[in-house]
Amino acid sequence: MDNYDVVIIGAGPAGSTAAKYAALGGAKVLILERDREPGIPVRCGEGVSEKGLSEFIQINKKWISAEIDVAEIHSPNGEKAILRNNGKGYILERRIFDNELTKLATKNGANILTKTDAIGLIFEDNKIVGVKIKHFDKVSEIKCKLVIGADGVESRVGRWAGLKTHLLLSDLHTSMQYTVTNIDIESNKVQFYFGNNLAPGGYAWVFPKSGDSANIGVGIAADKLGNKSAKDYLDKFIKRYFPNAKIHCQICGGIPTANRLERIFADNIMLIGDAARQLNPITGGGIIQGMIAGKIAGEVAALAVKKKKYTADFLEIYQKRWDRKLGNTHKIFYKLKKRLFNMNDARFNRLIEECQNIPENKSGLRIIFLRILRKNPTMALKAAKGFVLGK
Ligand SMILES: Cc1cc2nc3c(=O)[nH]c(=O)nc-3n(C[C@H](O)[C@H](O)[C@H](O)COP(=O)(O)OP(=O)(O)OC[C@H]3O[C@@H](n4cnc5c(N)ncnc54)[C@H](O)[C@@H]3O)c2cc1C
Repeated sequence: MDNYDVVIIGAGPAGSTAAKYAALGGAKVLILERDREPGIPVRCGEGVSEKGLSEFIQINKKWISAEIDVAEIHSPNGEKAILRNNGKGYILERRIFDNELTKLATKNGANILTKTDAIGLIFEDNKIVGVKIKHFDKVSEIKCKLVIGADGVESRVGRWAGLKTHLLLSDLHTSMQYTVTNIDIESNKVQFYFGNNLAPGGYAWVFPKSGDSANIGVGIAADKLGNKSAKDYLDKFIKRYFPNAKIHCQICGGIPTANRLERIFADNIMLIGDAARQLNPITGGGIIQGMIAGKIAGEVAALAVKKKKYTADFLEIYQKRWDRKLGNTHKIFYKLKKRLFNMNDARFNRLIEECQNIPENKSGLRIIFLRILRKNPTMALKAAKGFVLGK
């Protein structure tokens, strides 16, 4: 095995984006991916905003399965608010999209090794000097100066490096999603359903794919599951709202709706994306958030290589830059998430009722969140700022 400047563990949106920017900055980069190719299996609802996405990649129809311009929010009592003021969104084909992101990284000089499991870090004098890997059945070592942990929600890389990665049960959403066909659905509309019987501490989503197909899922706060599973809730939801649906694909996964980890760097290492808990704590969306972190970490990695500085003192600029871009908004959204998901059904019903009185073209998710916060004007102001800045 060769020596690299930067080894990135995980070829999700965060890892591939970091690889692209580190390679663009002149670093010798290797991505390690456990699966046989990036993007498969898909464990995602695949919804993103156009605004977030277009900062990173030219939109290409080959990885878009639906264009969205309406969101419908359903309250526990069956009422709904229609929101047309959220900007444009897409439902991706992540099987293709993730692969495209990795190709962008390799086109810019990064290398990738698939079917390769990172199984540990190599330390010399307490310093990370490489990654131990298992490629098919063969165990070997790759030397590098810097490791980027982009290994997703089940990340082990941070723990290997001694970073605190503990996640509270209340900050984990347990999710289950089916990709179904044979349903009647408008291809430009996403739907969200709230209610403590339907999805306690979370919500159910219906994201249209092409034709009569959709990703339908539930995310339930892990501490509110009781003796039921996310699958129990999803089956009940499908039976009630889409009884003729044919299930083609089933996935389950955890969504960390937490504050970002206290520290996302150490000597010779940075963590990005789900591994650093950088998702939007309200929506559980982490694709764009992972790419933003990937870009910052990739640029910092290239700088570290140029300056030959790999200690925490230098890498701290990664966390500082991320905080400047998203830190405050993330903290506010985390607080907002706690309010939203602890609201009782009556309060939710009232909220949707109020939103029904706002003209559709003026009503967006922003309005809903600001109404939740109206008894806390300081927080509402900060949240509004976050929305205005489009973060
Ligand atoms: C059911 C569900 C629905 C979701 N819906 C949405 C949505 O609609 N919109 C949205 O924005 N986000 C959504 N998310 C969240 C989104 O999927 C993640 O936030 C996003 O994929 C995070 O990107 P990442 O690059 O950090 O990690 P991942 O995309 O998880 O990539 C991590 C990669 O690391 C690899 N890996 C892990 N360990 C190792 C190892 N030891 N060695 C080598 N490779 C390793 C994995 O195989 C994987 O390819 C959803 C999540 C779930 C579970």
